[in-house]
Amino acid sequence: MIHILDWFKKKRSPRFKKVFIIINPTAGRARFLNYSKAIHNFFSKIDIEYDYVITKRSGEATTLAKWAVKEKFDLIIAAGGDGTTNEVVNGIGDSQVTLGIIPIGTINILSKELNIPLTFNRALKLILSGKIESMDMGRVNDRYFVLMAGCGIDSYAIYRVNIKLKKFLGPLAYIISGIYSLWKYKPHKITINIDDHRIDDFGYFVVAENVSTYGGKFKIAPYADVNDGLLDICIFKKTGVFDVFRYFIGIALKKHIDYPDVRYYQCKKIELTSEQNVLLHTDGELIGSTPAIITVLPKKLKVLVPKDD
Ligand SMILES: [Mg+2]
Repeated sequence: MIHILDWFKKKRSPRFKKVFIIINPTAGRARFLNYSKAIHNFFSKIDIEYDYVITKRSGEATTLAKWAVKEKFDLIIAAGGDGTTNEVVNGIGDSQVTLGIIPIGTINILSKELNIPLTFNRALKLILSGKIESMDMGRVNDRYFVLMAGCGIDSYAIYRVNIKLKKFLGPLAYIISGIYSLWKYKPHKITINIDDHRIDDFGYFVVAENVSTYGGKFKIAPYADVNDGLLDICIFKKTGVFDVFRYFIGIALKKHIDYPDVRYYQCKKIELTSEQNVLLHTDGELIGSTPAIITVLPKKLKVLVPKDD
């Protein structure tokens, strides 16, 4: 017969033995937090080995997550925004180590998609109360992504964004850069081959989405689902300032996919080629330019999410 206390301990016993927390202190809401205090408060009450690092420069979270995988941590938590999550995912790769997210960024697209609570303490508590789910990841060449890959004017806007302005204004800096890009960007034709020539198309701005949201409340790929083993592709075929403005309004009103000059596909693999190199980003980070092969890795990322009530 199981003693009642043993039973209770079993119920409470954590699934994770070693937890590593990577904190980006420059993330949107991070400066208002005392992480060390919140972390120590939490772990002092439970029996789990843990460690945490506060990053000092961008890119560091990938190196740290790779190290944590090697050191056999079984939960790696990204405390930051979507950029931090992307860096950590690139360190986790296809190792099957579980990703946790503490969404202290400005927009936190992935957390909203996965219903992860938006406060440090509540998100940390998922270590005890959450469940592990597998979700799709995307890959462009040798980089992983969780949200989207974009090729064209949005990558140019990311390229031109003023870093000082970004620190000061947050996401507004991207909107300013986007407006500037409307006048400055010279579009190049991108040839798109879907699922090994099942479909061939072209356009001047292409977004491959794993999640339905693009930024803020905008839904470029309204049918995208992180669990369907597919990427949702939206192709914009015209380039004029008026056309881009029309697309913007269409996206805001959720009408763009009905436009005759917008194409929408669901697929597993996309190849992008162009005569001139066109810039490319994943999850809002510039990663290079065309040519590129974008693929989906179905259910390859384990992530800690709240249990359904
Ligand atoms: Mg999908």
